[in-house]
Amino acid sequence: MAAIDGLPPLREVIARHGLAAKKALGQNFLLDLNLTAKIARSAGDLTQSDVLEVGPGPGGLTRALLAEGARHVLAVEKDERCLPALAEIAAAWPGRLEVVHGDALEVDAAARLTPPIRVVANLPYNVGTELLTGWLTPPVWPPFWQSLTLMFQKEVAERIVARPGTKAYGRLALLAQWRCEARIVMVLPPEAFTPAPKVHSAVVQLTALPAPRFPADAKVLNRIVAAGFNQRRKMLRASLRGVAPEIEAKLLAAGIAPTARAEEVSLEAFCALARIVAAG
Ligand code: SAM
Repeated sequence: MAAIDGLPPLREVIARHGLAAKKALGQNFLLDLNLTAKIARSAGDLTQSDVLEVGPGPGGLTRALLAEGARHVLAVEKDERCLPALAEIAAAWPGRLEVVHGDALEVDAAARLTPPIRVVANLPYNVGTELLTGWLTPPVWPPFWQSLTLMFQKEVAERIVARPGTKAYGRLALLAQWRCEARIVMVLPPEAFTPAPKVHSAVVQLTALPAPRFPADAKVLNRIVAAGFNQRRKMLRASLRGVAPEIEAKLLAAGIAPTARAEEVSLEAFCALARIVAAG
């Protein structure tokens, strides 16, 4: 396929730079530039945004982000073998791509970018949930980013968008949906990647809301949700016993049956309970 950036096909890039995929780094590469373009487009209009990309690898998604007009891309890659291939992309798009060699869990990306900032990444599976949790729990809200467009294992994507009463509903759903609009925008079969993983993948689009959907103290809400879902088969009057005194009365005041289980309780009701617990 002729690439619009004049750079060689990704298979050639991988062969020339000896980028055999390493499982320990969660390397499952996207080599189809039509697909990476589709993912980049699902992030919305990039022309007015800086973009943080975690794990650019050989650069398929990076090239798509630049071709879609991202104002500036900061790409954080842990594997130094990828750096020469990424330098070639930077040379093809002068002044638009900055590559940082490091661990995305440690790099202060916000300090290097100018808002509005969008995060777009085909995440390494081994650190994907940890990165997402970090982005969803900043010290202040709204966060440094406007949207997150992230590839996960499909099962993790389903946990992010899950609704009450389903098996996938839990801490991740509540954390994401409390302060974001979250939806799955694409599902990809294993064969879309090289090497093919064992499971399907999905792209989730999270857009930061200006304020939480329902008021609650983040720490109190997190404590309640963690306790409730750590023992998700137990009734809340038992699983939340250690969270606050007279928990049954507090559950009732929040409109939650003390015999309910965490997976049956809506985000709105958890927030009501967090306000009652915080008030003492
Ligand atoms: N973006 C490329 C693509 O779509 O083909 C590669 C995606 S691959 C699933 C994940 C990438 O993240 C790999 O290039 C891997 O080396 C990199 N990576 C793994 N752990 C990382 C970390 N902690 N910080 C930054 N990059 C990491």
